[in-house]
Amino acid sequence: MNVPLLDLVAQYCAIKDEVMPALLGVIESQQFIMGPAIQQLEAEVARLSHARHGIGCASGTDALLLPLKALGLQPRDEVITTPFTFFATAGTIHNAGGTPVFVDIEPESFNIDPAAVERAITPRTRAILPVHLYGQMAAMERLRASAEPRGIPIIEDACQAIGARRRLDGQWRMAGELGWVTGYSFFPSKNLGAWGDGGMMVTSDDAVADRLRKLRLHGGAKQYHHEEVGTNSRLDTLQAAVLVAKLPHLAGWSARRQEHAAYYTNALAGVPQVKPPVVDRANEHIFHQYTLRVERRDELQAHLKAKGIGHAIYYPLPLHLQPCFAYLGYTAGRLPVAEQAAREVISLPIYPELTTAQLDCVVDAIRGFYR
Ligand SMILES: *Cc1c(COP(=O)(O)O)cnc(C)c1O
Repeated sequence: MNVPLLDLVAQYCAIKDEVMPALLGVIESQQFIMGPAIQQLEAEVARLSHARHGIGCASGTDALLLPLKALGLQPRDEVITTPFTFFATAGTIHNAGGTPVFVDIEPESFNIDPAAVERAITPRTRAILPVHLYGQMAAMERLRASAEPRGIPIIEDACQAIGARRRLDGQWRMAGELGWVTGYSFFPSKNLGAWGDGGMMVTSDDAVADRLRKLRLHGGAKQYHHEEVGTNSRLDTLQAAVLVAKLPHLAGWSARRQEHAAYYTNALAGVPQVKPPVVDRANEHIFHQYTLRVERRDELQAHLKAKGIGHAIYYPLPLHLQPCFAYLGYTAGRLPVAEQAAREVISLPIYPELTTAQLDCVVDAIRGFYR
């Protein structure tokens, strides 16, 4: 049996009767630019995030770039972030004119280590950019304890974590609720995926919400009048219509992902060479990825490939060792926890539509490899 890493066609077949009429509605109205579906999606994603404002934009990358631009970074201004993430997290810091400062991660959650962040703060620190990796929130309360007294804003990279939450003082706090601005991606493979590129920022800061709305439209609130230089980073109305139709399914999809994760974790419990993901007790993990630490990772990869089982390495080379960031002067060994994770992790198929037979097939292949 073949088990792909992701099967977007399965999801399409399940929901096309809901999505196609929404798309057709946009097409028949011919209101492709900033049509009503955008505002509807913005309001719904803001509500889900316990935030006051949602501001659609062209991608998850832009959902990080625009708030960084709003900070007006100068060349030596520092933004502290994790090296164990998708490239966009740090690429946007560079492109906004700042200097990425990489600190190590926690070995269990794979998220940025708040103690390392505290140690890395300098007078030039202008923001902290944690990532809620694989769908599990970073320790926001500890990051806030470092950031708030110093007036440093936190930009959450929640591109993998829409709908994830963390229990603090007996209350559920959503991804997007505890930072200054949060970026989401609607890249097709994300938990809430569009049929193309898309992104959104959420914030409860009224002033920055106004600025972000302008920055995505060439820096002007009124057409042909520009208070500052922005860019064209609108969310496409067709994509917003797809996402409005898909959003009511998100909670059910996340629940399915959690069930699959529990199934794998149970079934792999007797395999000592495999360490299933650790969910922080405070977190509800939405399993954008189900990522193991394993022994003999590269051999396991070849074995899974031969068996037709999809898998991926997120991420094989930490960002502080990427050639494009050589100018920052990091060398191998500087961030050992991230570097070890890059050597040991492997992600398995976890999409909602997986069947039990497919899950068993993945489990059998892994058990067979280590037997
Ligand atoms: C997907 C992703 C992004 C970028 O999103 P795009 O929509 O592809 O631009 C940024 N950060 C993380 C952690 C991501 O997973």
